[in-house]
Amino acid sequence: MDLEKMLENSEALLKGHFLLSSGLHSDAYIQCARLLQNTSYAQIVGKELATKLEKFSPDCVISPAIGGIVIGYEVARNLEVPFIFAERGGDGKMTLRRGFDPSSFKRIVVVEDVVTTGKSTREVIRTIKKYKATVVATSAIVNRKPVNDIEGLPFTSLASIPLKLYKPTECPLCKEDIPLVKPGTRKEF
Ligand SMILES: [Zn+2]
Repeated sequence: MDLEKMLENSEALLKGHFLLSSGLHSDAYIQCARLLQNTSYAQIVGKELATKLEKFSPDCVISPAIGGIVIGYEVARNLEVPFIFAERGGDGKMTLRRGFDPSSFKRIVVVEDVVTTGKSTREVIRTIKKYKATVVATSAIVNRKPVNDIEGLPFTSLASIPLKLYKPTECPLCKEDIPLVKPGTRKEF
């Protein structure tokens, strides 16, 4: 089954009129947690992404919490390597907690659920650098903007679903009086 079909079946790909944290409006919204709550889909997607990442010979997978945890774990399980995650501390900065120590890893891959600007992935890469560990590739289930690399590292995804963005003053959905919905957090975008 292809990814778009799985996203549709799990109602992870929502069409409508959404207010993003940037203040811009969009016509679609992807909630990967809905896709991944189906454990069969999580297995399929994890295996496919792991297959694409094999060529980098990863020795560890890291994901930004919370969105990246389920897919990162599935990818790591398929690659038979350790899985760790970074999370935001009270100061809002991405950090490693829970005793995670990546310093012995030389070929870490970053796995995300959705990448739009790559902000979380870049923060994870910077966090890892402090441990003198090396990140070799970045990835996500879906990217919402054409991305070839993040911080100069190769980027891989299973699907590209471009995001339409509108300024509120120029938004055609506003002009049609379609109700504006504010979804979860910045992460989904
Ligand atoms: Zn609008």
